[in-house]
Amino acid sequence: MKEVLEWLVELQKVDLQLKQLEALRGDLPHQVEMLTQDVNQVKTTLQEQKIQLQDFHKEKDMLELEVKELEERQKKYQDQLYQVKNNREYDAVSMEIESVKETISNKETRIIELITLEEELQKSIASSEEEESQVQNRLSDKEGDLKKRLGQTEKQEKSLRTERDKLAKKLPPRILGTYQRIFNAKNGLAVVPVMRHGLCGGCFKNLPPQRVLEIREMKRMYLCEVCGRILVWDEEAANQEV
Ligand SMILES: [Zn+2]
Repeated sequence: MKEVLEWLVELQKVDLQLKQLEALRGDLPHQVEMLTQDVNQVKTTLQEQKIQLQDFHKEKDMLELEVKELEERQKKYQDQLYQVKNNREYDAVSMEIESVKETISNKETRIIELITLEEELQKSIASSEEEESQVQNRLSDKEGDLKKRLGQTEKQEKSLRTERDKLAKKLPPRILGTYQRIFNAKNGLAVVPVMRHGLCGGCFKNLPPQRVLEIREMKRMYLCEVCGRILVWDEEAANQEV
């Protein structure tokens, strides 16, 4: 049993180191994820704005073409005006001219409206593009940071994981399960030494003197009755001033 308890102590040490590496990465993975979402959102907006701009442009081109045709028709009517034979014909052609003029005027009003809309949209696109490049830069920075940090700790993490796997394989599954359960419940601290004056190294409550002696023998696995952690004997911890 002593050996098993020693493996548990080792496992706890390895797990604490792994936790420290995780803490070193901190919030970075989350930040990268959020910024990626932001970039995608800006890109979608930008795409929609560009499609809208194209639509405005197409409509304007079409209207300009129509106006050109109408102006030619107006000119033809104007020429006809010199060839009319009577008042009735004159009135009829004049009415056609008025009607064409009105249509041209309506289309020109819409063209002016479209020019304004295009200008506004181009401003929005410019600010979206600015935003896109800013968010993209921030994302690249954070990705760089994360990569650097991962690179620094990669080797260490790999060797810790290998060590952890070895220990986990050696431990009886039932004991490993108990350890894992306490580890998860107690924020990563499952195995604690008995401290000076017979205190639990996890919750610092007094342990019964008889129990301290039993733990010292390392013949069985004892859990602290207050915090539920696995108690082990460590000469150094037991003598250290708190
Ligand atoms: Zn305790």
